[in-house]
Amino acid sequence: MPGILLKNVTLDGSPRDIAIDGATIRRIAKAGELDKSFPTFGYEVLDCTGLTAIPGLVNGHTHAAMSLMRGVGEDLLFHDWIKRIWEIESEIDRDFVYWGTKVACLEMIRTGTTVFNDQYWFSSTAREAAVEMGILPAVSYIFLEGDGRPDAQTQKAKCLKWYNQSLNWGNDSIFTVSVHSVYTVSEELIRWAAEFARDHGLKLHVHVSETLKENLECQAAHGGLSPTEYLDSLGALWPDVIAAHSLWLSDNDVRIMGERGVSCVHNINSNLKLSSGYKFRYNELKQAGANLCIGTDGCASSNNLDILEALKTAAIVQKAWREDPSVMPLDELMAMATVNGARALGLNSGRIEEGLRADICLVDTHNSFFLSPAPFLANLVYSSHSDCIRTVIAGGKVVMKDRVIPGEEEILSNAAKVLTQLKK
Ligand SMILES: [Zn+2]
Repeated sequence: MPGILLKNVTLDGSPRDIAIDGATIRRIAKAGELDKSFPTFGYEVLDCTGLTAIPGLVNGHTHAAMSLMRGVGEDLLFHDWIKRIWEIESEIDRDFVYWGTKVACLEMIRTGTTVFNDQYWFSSTAREAAVEMGILPAVSYIFLEGDGRPDAQTQKAKCLKWYNQSLNWGNDSIFTVSVHSVYTVSEELIRWAAEFARDHGLKLHVHVSETLKENLECQAAHGGLSPTEYLDSLGALWPDVIAAHSLWLSDNDVRIMGERGVSCVHNINSNLKLSSGYKFRYNELKQAGANLCIGTDGCASSNNLDILEALKTAAIVQKAWREDPSVMPLDELMAMATVNGARALGLNSGRIEEGLRADICLVDTHNSFFLSPAPFLANLVYSSHSDCIRTVIAGGKVVMKDRVIPGEEEILSNAAKVLTQLKK
């Protein structure tokens, strides 16, 4: 199968040609030199003059279909907000998730995301929507109890069934196990889910210490243990665990996250907007050995899925809180959104190197934001915005070319129809 040839693209400051075969970056060479060492006859050629390549971004924690719930709980306290969300969620169906996920993918592609770690209902439908859009989803069976939800036995059986179905998925998506949180899932079921994930080599996706209230309630219910300590006591923390938020962590929690090699996903815009907090212990977690990633959370809290915006907010909040402009330097910020996110999901991606998955964004630098002597990354994260992303390649496929995403109009109009059918 002929691949894609990116001609004259700027990579790490130098002009390069990049040959992509199938889903993989096959060869990178000085611009103009590729044909000598590597025949590119029949390749689809993209002239990338004036464009800079960055790795596709990884959204480490989101609820994609919530793209159709933006702004529904503005100015509510966290626990009223989540009640409001659950009210709406009692009405949603497959159609809602399908078109909601498509809208989310439109937005993620536009803002440079090629991989996302999702946690939402009807996940086989979410997966289908994302795969059709050409980006890579990690979707979950979600354990969540109470409020008339199925009993533990039924949930275990469903998880097993979905896992078995996922064995036919191939490389276009990842199946994970989710424990919604320590406050919505019983001890017995957390133990079971963790063991199931561990036994089957799956990632375990869980909300951890998103709010102070969650911590206090956990301590009251479980003999003084924090959510991190409690999960650890149940055998639910190891390097395949993705802990969304990890916000209210004690010194001991930080030590545990590091020792267990957990991936902690910072969702700064969601945390700020819901007043959950902002003191993500980046330096301490990094030093302890945790893998640090970035996410947007769902649009019901952060209102968009823009990873570059999340990076900027994360960095400026850390710098202000620590009274230290050197925290979260640019290269580490980009690592959170690329290679660390890929590592959390076990993907050979997140860098532009031969042999890696071809997840690449082409950034248009011909605008005022890049007209400065500053390094490219400084302008990308702090000066520009995601509109500068012109073309996106995910798993070797062009999913947006010159800002055009095939099928966009149809997606928007179908999603609008779904919304008119929602009662509340
Ligand atoms: Zn979340």
